[in-house]
Amino acid sequence: MNDKPGLIKQLARILDDDQLLHRQEDLKPYECDALSAYQIMPLAVAIPENIEQIKQILATCYERNVPVVARGAGTGLSGGALPHEEGILLSLAKFKKIIAIDAENHTAVVQPGVRNLAISEAVKEFGLYYAPDPSSQIACSIGGNVAENAGGVHCLKYGLTVHNIIKLKVLTMDGDELSIGCDALDSPGYDLLALLTGSEGMLAIITEITVKLLPIPAAAKVIMASFDDIAVAGQAVSDIIAKGIIPAGLELMDNAAIKAADDFVHAGYPHDAAAILLCEIDGSVEEVNDQLGRAEEILKQSGATQIQIARDEAQRAQFWAGRKAAFPAVGRLSPDYYCMDGTIPRHQIANVLKTISELSAEYGQTVVNVFHAGDGNLHPLILFDANNEGELKRTEELGGKILDFCVEVGGTITGEHGVGIEKINQMCGQFNSDEITQFHAIKTAFDEKGLLNPGKNIPTLQRCAEFGAMHVHHGELPHPELERF
Ligand SMILES: Cc1cc2nc3c(=O)[nH]c(=O)nc-3n(C[C@H](O)[C@H](O)[C@H](O)COP(=O)(O)OP(=O)(O)OC[C@H]3O[C@@H](n4cnc5c(N)ncnc54)[C@H](O)[C@@H]3O)c2cc1C
Repeated sequence: MNDKPGLIKQLARILDDDQLLHRQEDLKPYECDALSAYQIMPLAVAIPENIEQIKQILATCYERNVPVVARGAGTGLSGGALPHEEGILLSLAKFKKIIAIDAENHTAVVQPGVRNLAISEAVKEFGLYYAPDPSSQIACSIGGNVAENAGGVHCLKYGLTVHNIIKLKVLTMDGDELSIGCDALDSPGYDLLALLTGSEGMLAIITEITVKLLPIPAAAKVIMASFDDIAVAGQAVSDIIAKGIIPAGLELMDNAAIKAADDFVHAGYPHDAAAILLCEIDGSVEEVNDQLGRAEEILKQSGATQIQIARDEAQRAQFWAGRKAAFPAVGRLSPDYYCMDGTIPRHQIANVLKTISELSAEYGQTVVNVFHAGDGNLHPLILFDANNEGELKRTEELGGKILDFCVEVGGTITGEHGVGIEKINQMCGQFNSDEITQFHAIKTAFDEKGLLNPGKNIPTLQRCAEFGAMHVHHGELPHPELERF
């Protein structure tokens, strides 16, 4: 048990009154991230304003063995920024400076608390933008994006966060200040930039990010294709890419998502369609016109019942508004929903959607599908009511089965939302015990005392044994010394 008064006293020497929260009522807003089914009060929330303060906070926590959980905007969906009850929450919210824009080299240096969309807004005057666009981009921070390797609608063509950053500055728990990557497009040595991207606040605190910028495409058009069978829409996704077109975005919404989004933001979606695909083509005017025609043809051949090309920018924005508001729109359908995030090979979309529908019927729970279809990145949203005894547990079980099936067809348990606490049990199925041991070794190399975001992302081998998902090779039980339950 940590000595809370002693810790607060020590932190108060580093931080001003308004930068250090420790009363219950002040801590309450920080008790969860966007996975609100789990809530924990931290001992304190530190909201530093400069690097020196972060260093001193880390040094204090290191010396006192106090866990530290970094928090960006708290929009994470896997509980990554869920506080530790014996630790402090380190908010990076005040680090929101765009330090430099190099329009010539198409890069910008930003602090971790800068909102994703704010980067594109700041560089728009140079005809540039930052490509990865999570649907939460008006709120989420670039530091959180790096820590989760966030994706978004346009990542099919332009890549994930990891493909759009070149350099990081980070602080390790024991006080090292590291610069990872470099200003050139390639860097020597092991690819630590990739290792840090998606590390979920487990290895270091990200304090500065150099992002790549792209020229705003001259033209962009979106097709909305309707289908009377969701499996046919799933197959159409593969057909488009197999024929050599890489859309800027290729998103699928099922009937429940269509209705929810349309009722919410009046996006102009057809309520009678079993599914729609939003297929965006961008590039030069000639490129867009050529590919648009080809995509339209492929969609028709693949069984689309209706095709609508947004007639102007306003309608294009309206079509996307529905997709971007789909999560909050689904939030209006039931008291709670649980958002899953599996990724599968594209050609498995129809098969996996069928299994999701069977599991939904078996559990008697509605599952709404709205996802980055081009990437095969599913987001089944399981509706439930946490007030009903046992419903959260049942929902987790159903979600777990969906993720297990994603792994079974050659996919992964996470696409862009991270593991956090949400998918920690599924890690035991995705990776064998040797691999998990290696993950722990990497964690220890960066954070010997295990103080950064403990209990997240990498399960202990005991946990896998308890969960019953430990990989057994040729009948040999790994780690027989561990107690089984
Ligand atoms: C409506 C909605 C839509 C969403 N759509 C998408 C989507 O399309 N694509 C997508 O990828 N995600 C999406 N998300 C999930 C979420 O927005 C992303 O995971 C985002 O990257 C989280 O950023 P954040 O600033 O809110 O981070 P937080 O939630 O605060 O933290 C996330 C993780 O990053 C760590 N972290 C944060 N800052 C730092 C730092 N400076 N140094 C080290 N670790 C840090 C935290 O410890 C935590 O583990 C969506 C969420 C919502 C609510």
